[in-house]
Amino acid sequence: MAESTTKKYDVIVVGSGASGGWACKRLAESGLKVALLEAGRPQSSANFSEHTPAFELKYRNLAPEIVRKTRPIQSQMADVCNEYTQDWFVNDIEEPYTTPADKPFNWLGRLRMTGGRTNVWGRVSLRFSDWDFKAASHDGYGEDWPISYKDIAPYYDLVEKYVGITGMAEGLEELPDGQFQPPMALNCQESVFRDRVKQKMGRTATLTRSANLTQSLNGRGPCHYCGPCERGCVTKSYFNSAFTTVADALKSGNCTLISNAMAFKVLMDGDRNRARGVLYIDRITRAPREIQARVVILCAQSQESARILLNSANSQYPNGLANSSGVLGHYLMAHVRSAGGRGEFPELAPAPSLSAPIKPLGIYIVRFRNMKGNPPFKKFLRGYGFECDSNFDFNWGAPGFGEAYKKALREPRAEFSLTGFGEVLPRWDNFVGIDKKVKDVYGIPVLKIHMSDGENEKAMIKDIAESAGEMLEAAGAKNIRTRANPSAPRWAVHEAGVARMGSDPRKSVLDQFQQTHDIKNLFVMDASGFTSNPCQNPTLTIMALCVRSCDHLMDEMKRSNI
Ligand SMILES: Cc1cc2nc3c(=O)[nH]c(=O)nc-3n(C[C@H](O)[C@H](O)[C@H](O)COP(=O)(O)OP(=O)(O)OC[C@H]3O[C@@H](n4cnc5c(N)ncnc54)[C@H](O)[C@@H]3O)c2cc1C
Ligand code: SF4
Repeated sequence: MAESTTKKYDVIVVGSGASGGWACKRLAESGLKVALLEAGRPQSSANFSEHTPAFELKYRNLAPEIVRKTRPIQSQMADVCNEYTQDWFVNDIEEPYTTPADKPFNWLGRLRMTGGRTNVWGRVSLRFSDWDFKAASHDGYGEDWPISYKDIAPYYDLVEKYVGITGMAEGLEELPDGQFQPPMALNCQESVFRDRVKQKMGRTATLTRSANLTQSLNGRGPCHYCGPCERGCVTKSYFNSAFTTVADALKSGNCTLISNAMAFKVLMDGDRNRARGVLYIDRITRAPREIQARVVILCAQSQESARILLNSANSQYPNGLANSSGVLGHYLMAHVRSAGGRGEFPELAPAPSLSAPIKPLGIYIVRFRNMKGNPPFKKFLRGYGFECDSNFDFNWGAPGFGEAYKKALREPRAEFSLTGFGEVLPRWDNFVGIDKKVKDVYGIPVLKIHMSDGENEKAMIKDIAESAGEMLEAAGAKNIRTRANPSAPRWAVHEAGVARMGSDPRKSVLDQFQQTHDIKNLFVMDASGFTSNPCQNPTLTIMALCVRSCDHLMDEMKRSNI
């Protein structure tokens, strides 16, 4: 029998990451009483280690096999899940998921800390445009979003001003400019690449728009270029919901953070067709508990939110809560990012230095396939952008020993790499469901993820490698190498679409305000609602949509419609 708290909240928010943090801030600062259920532990700057050298760690960050014992999946992203940060991530053994044998899928970036994935994210913050929201009208594939750019633009402004995003205005319709802080400077490789690619190919490579401060903001200091943001930041110079939105919500006095609370299912009042609360498992005691509220908002990250809804199936909704359409779990999308290229600009290489500032972002090449002014590209629909890294590091992997090695190590190098992030089409047969045979250590049935590349993705991956090579050549790089690997299992940690939005309740789970069509006081405000998965990184749009939906929710509550 689950213990129930007597305290009544206005709203329960599940998950404290990018979306949950904003939901709590917006609602609590407006006076609503919010309970924030977070599966992970509280985050604190005492856990941050961006200035800790590896030699201070027990295993010098050189023993990945020890991390692999508990995090065999998460540690595949070794740059973010390693000896420094492993405790922030889910224990893959205790909280597994399954896949069909022929469809491996790496479900990476599963965090169990306040702040969720924003603790370790790459911070690239790009707007979508009507080329994305109305993509189906442009090329006939899939469905348009139930919103247009003008509906979300004011919320992009609001979120960007608070988050703090460094960027350069470019005046492009396909990648709208935002409310930027002053841009970080481009280095010489980046400037040369940007100028030559624009001049010779008409393509735009801009400073990556990134959630790193260049000016103080709300008590957070500007970035001091130390480099490893994925290990935290004591000056709070990158955006992490743990020390921004969630902290603000708690400061309001209206938000209660309940940590180590693993939501199992949404509880229903079947007679009134209303959500009445959430059943969760206390991860420390393993005891089940119930919490009640007038509204439930899931912000647990796409697949986790779908899992909660699927596990909440009851006699009224036998295929999962709010799933009268049968669409819940389907149309899983996750960017392809397995192709790109690299080259060198030896004439631009400075002598490497251990004390050089490390700019925590590079440049971004804006999508150019299937855009206005060009005929539709014959090989595939939609498009991709590139995230680029410019590296002047020591040649740590140089061959040799002794003097020869030391000399090679210090040899000036200037490597420039491009990684394509490509849109994946929404397909019914990419989906998540419950694996009834497997439970996690808390007794909650786990997800089974079914995902594979379609013909569109395969053709796109090939083209990403080819165009990376062309651009490197146009920019004058030497020693050019390209790669085009199959994208499954995935790496992009930008999953979306498993409870998609739409205006037709027969074909979608959520409406334009991420309110379930079936149950008026139940919302899903993470990327589950994305109708398509544009090639731009999703989090800025997740946050802007969430704030818009919260405003709608508060209007409806005022009118007593919820
Ligand atoms: C390494 C990495 C790099 C990335 N780089 C970028 C980037 O450059 N740009 C970009 O736009 N995006 C990036 N992303 C993706 C970005 O982090 C996510 O899009 C974003 O954080 C998703 O927000 P969310 O609110 O849906 O979920 P999250 O931020 O993941 O938060 C979900 C929270 O819910 C909690 N939770 C899960 N299940 C439950 C449950 N059952 N009960 C209670 N709580 C639960 C989790 O513990 C977590 O704290 C990156 C992600 C990773 C991992
Ligand atoms: S590079 Fe900047 S934002 Fe990143 S951890 Fe260092 S100071 Fe913070």
